[in-house]
Amino acid sequence: ADFGFETVALNEKQGRVDGVFHSVARRYDLMNDLMSGGLHRAWKAQLIAMLRPPKGRPFAHLDVAGGTGDVAFRVLEAGGPATQVTVLDINESMLRVGAERAAGRYGERIAFVTGNAETLPLPDASFDAYTIAFGIRNVPRIEVALAEAKRVLKPGGRFLCLEFSAVDVPLLDKIYEAYSFHVIPRIGERVAGDADSYRYLVESIRKFPTRGAFAGMIERAGFRHVTERPLSGGIVAIHSGWKV
Ligand code: SAM
Repeated sequence: ADFGFETVALNEKQGRVDGVFHSVARRYDLMNDLMSGGLHRAWKAQLIAMLRPPKGRPFAHLDVAGGTGDVAFRVLEAGGPATQVTVLDINESMLRVGAERAAGRYGERIAFVTGNAETLPLPDASFDAYTIAFGIRNVPRIEVALAEAKRVLKPGGRFLCLEFSAVDVPLLDKIYEAYSFHVIPRIGERVAGDADSYRYLVESIRKFPTRGAFAGMIERAGFRHVTERPLSGGIVAIHSGWKV
């Protein structure tokens, strides 16, 4: 009974996150471009550059919180004919948009799976790499998601996470804060008719652990050679770790 409150709080958080993405699924890709001024494309390109999916051998990739498939399509385009990507997301509205975008383009090389990052419905040691882009801060129990990432990776497999971070460049931090609190909810209101959802997203960015703290969590989950790499003055960061 002691855990009752915590469980309710976690369910509430996940329920709220689900509501946000159901309501924005159709406009999600447009919103990404508008809100980041197209920068999310460069950040994802950097993620793929670090991943370097091989051209000449089989590569099983898992993209968690993969939403409308943006990262998955990039992995498929960078990889070879034996690259296969599983897109996993908790939200069927997001996956449906992804499946529509993928239709007729990648055949059997892409699969869409509904599931929770905290309880992946996937076998142990089955993927060469795991990515999660702008997803982990929405997951109620980050440690649980990290343990699951480690479980489904093969030995030698790589974990990569692209997430919002903390701007640590003078002046840019002030501009970024003003932009987050005033501009983002307004774009949310105009384009998706939903300022509150975007206020929630801005809030979740502020609450996310610092780069160092998050790197520590990845290490405690058992990953090795953990690195953190801020991009665009720290607006986002890519964390990397290896399962040995
Ligand atoms: N990775 C995509 C991208 O970079 O464009 C989508 C990112 S979107 C900001 C966050 C996604 O996380 C949503 O599609 C949402 O449904 C998903 N999500 C939230 N909580 C989740 C969970 N517990 N397990 C799996 N996916 C989750």
